[in-house]
Amino acid sequence: MSSLPNYEIYAIKYAEHHRMSRDNFLGGDAHDRPMPLDYFVWLIRHDRQAWVLDTGFSPEEAKSRGRDFKRCPAEGLRALGVDPDAVTDVIISHMHYDHCGNNHLFQKAKYHIQEKEMQFATGRCMCHRSMRYPFTLSDILSMVERVHTDRAVFHNDSEDLAPGLSVHHVGGHTAGLQVLRVHTARGWVVLASDASHFYANMENQRPFPIIYNTVEMLEGYKTCYKLASSVDHVIPGHDPLVMAKYPSPRPELEGWIVRLDVPPKSA
Ligand SMILES: [Zn+2]
Ligand SMILES: [Zn+2]
Repeated sequence: MSSLPNYEIYAIKYAEHHRMSRDNFLGGDAHDRPMPLDYFVWLIRHDRQAWVLDTGFSPEEAKSRGRDFKRCPAEGLRALGVDPDAVTDVIISHMHYDHCGNNHLFQKAKYHIQEKEMQFATGRCMCHRSMRYPFTLSDILSMVERVHTDRAVFHNDSEDLAPGLSVHHVGGHTAGLQVLRVHTARGWVVLASDASHFYANMENQRPFPIIYNTVEMLEGYKTCYKLASSVDHVIPGHDPLVMAKYPSPRPELEGWIVRLDVPPKSA
């Protein structure tokens, strides 16, 4: 019997984007078909402690990037009884616009980020348009402000945040991408975020085409599987199948919030 806490995990969907499968795999897809992408933030909690993984983007950002915005991530947190103003710890998987926006929220929280990601998002890699286009300058400036006001917590490689909760650097998609490993009643769940956008990326070893380092990305799939209790314990960052596989905590949350610390419905 493990003495580690069993965390609850929720995926909160806040937006979507209709696209073709050729846009989701390096080198395209011979069997091109509609393959939409969902956008999530995640809530991890135990007793009164709540952790938020990623912060999503705003309606304005959605408009400028042509994404279909559904609701503010804060609405999902409130539906689960969490006040964003009271959250003390936010974990940022990486600093792309869809994971690191809504900077008006979480004003009291410390932000946990890999040191490499901050270097990447503020260094010479950003001189290249193809590297910087998934970043939004105001998000980066907000993170710099946190550094200067004691609200940034830097991590290197693998580090425990609390018993049963740890970050792990995988890189690949961005230089400092980290995944989150969470102990639950069903074992170790890994929230992969953009280490694997879809189940198909990691299952078939076919990278998503926004890449910093291809080999790191391929190794990252292995790392996620290694850290998780089974393949069913790795949760991709953008796959609509997550909504279909996992149960909603309450009927009125059907279609936008699911619980990931319980087994998938299809298991
Ligand atoms: Zn990303
Ligand atoms: Zn993303």
